This record gives sequence, C-alpha cells and structure tokens, in this order.
Amino acid sequence: MKTIHSKYIIVGAGLSGLTTAYSLIKNGEKDFIILEARDRIGGRIHTKDGIDLGATWFQDHHVNLAKLLDALSVSRFEQYSKGKSVLVYNTMAPAHYFESQHNGPSAYRIVGGSIAIINKLASVLDGKIHLNSIVTNISEDQDVLTLTTEDKTYSAEKVIITIPPKLASGIDFSPELPENLLQTMKSTHTWMSNAIKIGMLFNKPFWKENDFSGTVIGQVGPVIELYDHCNHQENTFALMGFVNEGLRDTRPEVRKERILSYLEKYLGEEVKNHIAYFEKDWSKDRRTSCENLKSVYMSPQYGHGLYNQWHCNGKLLLSGTETSPVYGGYLDGAVHSGLNTANKLLHKELV
Ligand SMILES: Cc1cc2nc3c(=O)[nH]c(=O)nc-3n(C[C@H](O)[C@H](O)[C@H](O)COP(=O)(O)OP(=O)(O)OC[C@H]3O[C@@H](n4cnc5c(N)ncnc54)[C@H](O)[C@@H]3O)c2cc1C
Repeated sequence: MKTIHSKYIIVGAGLSGLTTAYSLIKNGEKDFIILEARDRIGGRIHTKDGIDLGATWFQDHHVNLAKLLDALSVSRFEQYSKGKSVLVYNTMAPAHYFESQHNGPSAYRIVGGSIAIINKLASVLDGKIHLNSIVTNISEDQDVLTLTTEDKTYSAEKVIITIPPKLASGIDFSPELPENLLQTMKSTHTWMSNAIKIGMLFNKPFWKENDFSGTVIGQVGPVIELYDHCNHQENTFALMGFVNEGLRDTRPEVRKERILSYLEKYLGEEVKNHIAYFEKDWSKDRRTSCENLKSVYMSPQYGHGLYNQWHCNGKLLLSGTETSPVYGGYLDGAVHSGLNTANKLLHKELV
C-alpha cells in the first residue's frame, strides 16, 4: 500500500482542526491534509434542517470565536427570549412563569446555524479533507509519524490530534504514549458527550403568537431545557432543547410521546403539530463518546499542561477544545486551541 505523505496531518475536521487548517492556509502553508472519521465535517457542530443538534450558543466573553466569526464575515443574532418563559420545578404544581430581563444579549446564535462557521472555514480547504478516514494506529518511524486508517497509510513530520482526548486514548500508539499522558487523556471528560438534543420544526411559531418565548426550564420533566430556535430570517419555525438523561434507555417512540405530552402541558397542543422531529443522543455517537459514559453538568477544568507540550519527539500535539485552558469544552476553546496549534506550527506567538 502506497503511503501518502504531507508535512502536517490534522486528525479531526471539527471546529478546532478546521481553524488550524484555515490559519495555515491564510499564512501560506499548504502542505497538510485533514483526516476525518465521519462522512461529514463539523464534529460536535451538527446542523440538520436548520436545527443545531450540537453546539449552538456563545456569549460576549467568547472573544476568540467572535473574532473568527468577524474575520469570516459570519453573522450572529440574539437568542430569542421575549414573552413568557416557563419554569417547572414540580410537575404536580402549576408552572411558574417569568420574563427575561433585557439588559443586553444573554446568548448569540450563528446566522445559518452553527454549521455556517464550519462551511466557511472549509471553503478554503478544497481537496484537503479526507472523509471516512478513521485513524486507528499511529507509529513513530524515525523522522515521521505513520498513521493508519482502514484502507490507507499516511505519514507526516508533525501530527495534530483534535479528537477528544478520551477517544484519542483508544488509538494504538507505537511506541506507547507515556503513562502520565495516557492517564490524563483517559480522564479528560468529553464535554457534552452525555447530551441528548431534540429539535422540532413547525409551520408557524405558535408559542410566539401566544406570547411565550419558547423557553421551558426544569429538571423534573422529560425536557430539561427548551428554547425558540427559529432562524434569523424568521421564515423557519423551530424549538430545540435538551432531553432528560433519565430517558436515554427508553424506547424512542415512548420517549417522544412523553416529551410531546410534557411540552403540550406548558406550550399548548400545537406542539403535536410539528412537521419534523429530530433527536440526537451524543452518548451513542462513537466519534464523540465512548462506552464508559459519565454525566457531567459543570464544565470541568480543561487544558492540562501536558496538552501544551509536543510528544513523540516533537512530532505529536494534542489539540481540540478539551486541551484549551481558555473556555475549554466550548466553541471558544476549540478556536483558541486551533489558533494556538497553528501558531506553534508556524512558529508564531501564541494567542
Ligand atoms: C449537544 C452539544 C451541545 C453543545 N452546545 C454548545 C454550545 O451551545 N456552546 C458552545 O460553546 N459549545 C457547545 N458544545 C461544545 C462544542 O460543540 C465543542 O466545544 C466543539 O465543537 C469542539 O470542537 P473540536 O474540534 O475540539 O472537537 P470535535 O468537534 O469533537 O471534533 C473532533 C473531530 O474528530 C473526529 N474523529 C473522532 N475520532 C476520529 C478518528 N479516530 N480518526 C479521525 N477523526 C476522528 C470527529 O469525527 C470530529 O469531527 C456542545 C456540544 C454538544 C455535543
């Protein structure tokens, strides 16, 4: 089998890997390829029929992401929150209604869905992304690292792994990675890998017409958070949210029925008139999650010092949001790690 060689190989076409690739191209470095396991780009950014089944929001303090969006001319808009929101703290008591205080935007969404940033980054990467390429082995051979996928062999002077560290610890390394690095990778929780999202499309935004914001919050029901998810142009109408993890192992049709009955109670029977219904359980997606699932609700401390160092004699670097000391786990952390990695490759100052 012929080995495909390039100076750099980036493993993973999520926000981090694509940010690195984009930055390399913008700085005149074209000698690299990206290996992506899935048949799509974006990783934990996944927009289906306008609904963000992966990452959705960012805030004012996420400056790395905001700067990148500006550089790419990708616009943002405020999360809709006008009207009555519902707080459910006890399913046997009446719902509590509240209205958001408008002292400034609480969260932004990306116009066109979060996938817009991914598509814009990829637009300058023609021919560089190899889809359906699951990296299973990495071995050190003198001056290069050799990477194996199901049907191809690649080699590179430097390899950037942007796979969540916990998953990357499952790659067969030869020689083996140092024990302290391996243990750190195994214990780095993959942010949001336990989340279950739902999205529904409607012919009209019936909640807005009834003076509801679309927000329904509460840990006691089948849906723990729900929000308006209409597009910026306000010509597609959607609700999107997070499912209670207690329903993970419930049969899909039973789960859907429980979700709809619950939402009907708080938003009205129009909930049942959706024209499309989507669910995504990220814990079942082997390109994000692995078998020993752990539910984590507070963002852990990310950006372990070992992720800031080169390994395999200067040939291997771990990147991706979980390696970022700045807003690790979030989109902003993915951009931060992607830019820092590019700067390391280009021998430039870190951000
Ligand atoms: C449900 C959900 C909701 C979220 N909501 C938000 C939010 O509102 N705001 C926010 O800031 N963040 C949110 N996040 C987190 C955000 O999505 C991530 O921080 C960000 O997308 C991570 O980008 P990344 O490139 O570091 O990793 P990933 O997107 O995970 O990219 C890694 C890539 O590596 C690929 N890969 C995996 N294994 C292999 C292999 N063996 N060989 C080759 N390729 C491989 C994967 O397919 C993937 O494309 C959310 C995440 C989820 C899942």
